[in-house]
Amino acid sequence: MIPLFDRYPRLARKLSRVSLGDFPTPVANLESLGKQIGSGALYLKNDGLTSTYFGGNKVRKLEFLLADAKQKKASEILTFGFAGSNHAAATALYAKKLGFHPVSVLLHQPRAHYVRKNLLAQHAVGTELVVTDNPLVTTIGEIARRRTRMGKRPYIVPPGGSSPLGTVGYVNAAFELAEQVNAGELPCPDRIYVPLGSLGTAAGLILGLRTAGLKTKVTCVRVVDRTFVNSGTLLQLIARTRNYLRLRDPSFPDVKVAANELDIRHDYFGDGYARFTEKGAHAVRLAQSAGVALEGTYTGKTLASVVDDADSGKLQNQTALFLNTCNAASLDSLIADVDYRELPETLHPYFEEDVQRLDG
Ligand SMILES: *Cc1c(COP(=O)(O)O)cnc(C)c1O
Repeated sequence: MIPLFDRYPRLARKLSRVSLGDFPTPVANLESLGKQIGSGALYLKNDGLTSTYFGGNKVRKLEFLLADAKQKKASEILTFGFAGSNHAAATALYAKKLGFHPVSVLLHQPRAHYVRKNLLAQHAVGTELVVTDNPLVTTIGEIARRRTRMGKRPYIVPPGGSSPLGTVGYVNAAFELAEQVNAGELPCPDRIYVPLGSLGTAAGLILGLRTAGLKTKVTCVRVVDRTFVNSGTLLQLIARTRNYLRLRDPSFPDVKVAANELDIRHDYFGDGYARFTEKGAHAVRLAQSAGVALEGTYTGKTLASVVDDADSGKLQNQTALFLNTCNAASLDSLIADVDYRELPETLHPYFEEDVQRLDG
C-alpha cells in the first residue's frame, strides 16, 4: 500500500496503479553543502532514484497514468514533449515495459548532452518518434484521431504527465515525506524547493502537504515559459486534482489554496526552456562537489534559488529540503548500440552539432 491509500483506503479501490519504482525515495542530510552556502539544515529527497531503469519525477505520475491506460485497454501510449524531454523518455520506456507501443511527438529545443541520451533511449525501445513544429494542442488530437482510424487504441499521456491523475503521484509523495518526518529521518522542512515545469510535481506536493498536515511551504522555481506556467495555472491544477480525489473519496479534505500562499520564483528561467544559465551552472557544480548530480534545465536552476535564499539569510535556522527530480539511472547500456542515424533526420543535428556546456 502507498501512504496516500493507507490514509484514504477508498482511493485504493477507485484508482488503479502499477508499481514502476522503488519507494520511499531516500532522504539525505546535505550538511557540508548547507554549510558551504550558509543555509540552515539542508536535506535532499532524491527522486532521481525512483527507479534504476529510468528515475526522476515522472515515475510517480506514470504509475497512475499507465495503470489507467491498461484499464482502458489501450494498445499504444501517445505523449508529447521537447526533443530531450525526460517525460517523453520515461513514458516511452515504461510504456514499452508494460507492453504498449510508445509514440512520442516532439518539439525542437536547445541542444544538450541529455537530449541525445533521451532520444537514443526512446529509439532503443522501439518508440515511434514524430517531430512537429505545430502547437502541441492541435497536434495531439489530430494524431490520436488518425491512429484510431488506423485501428489503434491510443491513450494520451498529457505533456509532463500533469493531469489530475498524474498529479496524484505527488500528492502521495507528500504523504511519503510525512512518514519519513514521523520516522525521524528529517525534521519537518520549512520549505521544499522544486522545479516548476508542467506543474504536477508542485501542485501534488502543495495539495498533499496541506492534506497531510505538514507546515512545509513549496518554493516553485519556474523553468518553462510563463504563458503556461503561472499562479493561475498552478492553482487550477491544485483545485482540479483535489476535486478529482474528492469525487472518488468524499472524505478527502476540501483544501483551498489562495494565490498569496504560492511561492513561485520567476528569476531563474533565463533566456528560455532548457537554456542553461550561469547561476544554474554554478549550482550544478556546487552540487557535484557534494556528490549530487544535477542538470541545467530543471534542477540546477532550482538549486540556484536555494543558494540565493541562503545568501540573503532567508534560510537561517530553517530546514530546507531540495527535491531532486532528475533521473539518476544510467542509460549507457540501453543506448550503447544505438546509431543516431536511425532516428528521423530532423533529429540528427542534436548529435552532429555542438551542445551547450554546463561549465562554459
Ligand atoms: C519534468 C521535470 C520537471 C518538472 O516537473 P513538473 O511536474 O512537470 O512541473 C522537473 N525536473 C525534471 C528533471 C523533469 O524532468
